[in-house]
Amino acid sequence: MDIAYLSRYLTEHKYPAFRTKQIIKGVIQDGCATYAEITTIPRALQEELTRDVPILPFAVVSVHTSHDGQAVKALLQLTDGGHMIETVLISPKPGMWSACISCQVGCAMGCAFCATGKLGLKRNLTTDEITSQVLFWRQYLKKQQIAGTFDNIVYMGMGEPFMNWKNVRESISILTDKTLFSFSNRGLSVSTSGVVPGIKDFADTCPQVNLAISLHFASDEKRTMYMPVNTGYDLSALREALQYYLSKNKRKIFIEYIMLKGINDTPEDARLLAQYVSSIGHMQLLHINLIRYNSIGENFIPSDRDTVKKFQSVMQKMHIPCTIRKSVGDDISGACGQLAGK
Ligand code: SF4
Repeated sequence: MDIAYLSRYLTEHKYPAFRTKQIIKGVIQDGCATYAEITTIPRALQEELTRDVPILPFAVVSVHTSHDGQAVKALLQLTDGGHMIETVLISPKPGMWSACISCQVGCAMGCAFCATGKLGLKRNLTTDEITSQVLFWRQYLKKQQIAGTFDNIVYMGMGEPFMNWKNVRESISILTDKTLFSFSNRGLSVSTSGVVPGIKDFADTCPQVNLAISLHFASDEKRTMYMPVNTGYDLSALREALQYYLSKNKRKIFIEYIMLKGINDTPEDARLLAQYVSSIGHMQLLHINLIRYNSIGENFIPSDRDTVKKFQSVMQKMHIPCTIRKSVGDDISGACGQLAGK
């Protein structure tokens, strides 16, 4: 919901200020999917808003649930221009829900193993299009009568958050505003492929929000080959940005490492990763997540489970916190790197 537009509309149509609060409570806090569900406002206003102020800036094309029920993926068609985006609701533990949201249609970063990267960048999402994905999941949980807490948002869907930073930063303000969505800052995580200026600004402006780095390669040669971002911001520039972040915030940084068979999972890759992470310093504030690659049906294959375990043991021997993250939603193409707007 475009909150600024709603407020302007109500003011221009001479409604008292308390109506804005009633509508925001109904739509954003209570998850009402239609104005008719907000019983505190008159029927005439319900009808007027239904006609003039859309609650969601997209149509829901499809919703698919994974076989284990731990992930739900929604395909959404934007009202403005008709592009498709995807968002995923994940249950990392029973009774806990987390939304993975998109910030761009497609992505310009071109990571070779990512379905979104194959699309190229179509356009940035507006602040409203970003926050409305969260609103959509609130409505969904209410409609499906799914109990549990929904207090985590991860910017890990389609797009690179720091390439649409103004709108992403505004969306963080709205999601954490106590009078609006009221998420805790600590319940939000922003994931970047390594856009250095964005990391520095994030360190200055969002000290309580979690940061995740999609590292995936610990040598410049390989990282440049598979992640073009590395040509602009190499591993040394990235290390310096992470050190800047840690000098400002004593918050844990999550380092994501997808494991691609024969490409970045050799003992030498493990040694390089341990060496790189150690060189950042503040080891107690760094945490590596190893993720078996989620196939998009192209040239890359997930590493064997044994290889992933051996990789983890190298990190553990170096006393680097490291977990193997279980993928959810891969059977509905809703896991990391699989979102392609279809
Ligand atoms: S991994 Fe992230 S940054 Fe890279 S192409 Fe995919 S969406 Fe963009």
